[in-house]
Amino acid sequence: MIQPVHEDLFAVVGNPVSHSLSPVMMNAAFRSLGIPAVYLALQIDSPVDDLKTLWETGFKGLSVTLPFKETVYRAAVSVDETAEAIGALNTLRRCDKGWEGINTDWIGATRAIGRFTRLHGKNALVIGAGGAARAVVYGLKREGARVTVSNRCIERGRSLSSSMRCDFISLPALAKSGNGRDFDIVVQCTSVGLMEEQSARLVPDSFFHPGMVVMETVYRPLWTGFLLQARQAGCTTVPGIDMLLHQGVAQLEWWLDRPVPASNGIDVMEKALKKALEDEQDIQKD
Ligand code: NAP
Repeated sequence: MIQPVHEDLFAVVGNPVSHSLSPVMMNAAFRSLGIPAVYLALQIDSPVDDLKTLWETGFKGLSVTLPFKETVYRAAVSVDETAEAIGALNTLRRCDKGWEGINTDWIGATRAIGRFTRLHGKNALVIGAGGAARAVVYGLKREGARVTVSNRCIERGRSLSSSMRCDFISLPALAKSGNGRDFDIVVQCTSVGLMEEQSARLVPDSFFHPGMVVMETVYRPLWTGFLLQARQAGCTTVPGIDMLLHQGVAQLEWWLDRPVPASNGIDVMEKALKKALEDEQDIQKD
């Protein structure tokens, strides 16, 4: 049996996981908070067996990324109501009998948007119907927003909107209407824009209007085509990195069982994330 002696062990598990920004963010937080812990990136193949091994080795907490957010849900000994409602989890904490799980993606989204606007009573549009959209819809509804889902695949979109009890509009119909005036908050939850400087337009420029708060979930690149369209129209823009940051802060708070301070905690994590993304972009330019 292998057991850590001087430091607590944490990790992000996924496949692939080499590009995860979580180790940079979490290790910066542990250093700044003076916590003797190490956070690794571990590529796994068989979640059930690998999670057992990590538990036996003494890992204290795990972040879970693609493609295991749903599989791991079934491998946890218990999950909270957020993971149950979303049907996926992104955070595991060691308990006596194995791993207990929660989902913090919805907290990441609502905290990131909540820095710019109240959510209660607002009309929100979520574009996409995958795992990210499910977490965002859950979070917005929980905070009291009225939510409409829009998706390319109508069946998938309708399935999400009916299970979360919200409205649905197909993506072509949304784009054709060309007008987003019904919405105070818009969240882009498709993978469109990922790793691309310029991306296909989900909606025309006329869709955006000043006063709208627009959040992107994609964070590579920092400024997607969607977010640039929103910025040019005078909207308040919230980059995907903010959601990543706040879902990570919520993970850390659950593992440590205490709030992470804004100063010397959240600010350090944000700085580390932004620096890592900027460094990546500089390397791509070279
Ligand atoms: P997913 O389950 O694979 O869902 C993908 C979604 O994108 C579906 O709604 C799909 O629509 C839509 N889509 C893909 N290509 C499209 C296109 N060309 N035109 C229109 N719609 C398209 O993915 P996911 O897990 O929800 O992740 C979505 C994004 O969120 C990813 O980029 C991920 O990195 C990001 N994310 C960010 C955070 C964060 O903390 N910032 C957290 C989680 C996820 P169809 O149903 O029609 O195929």
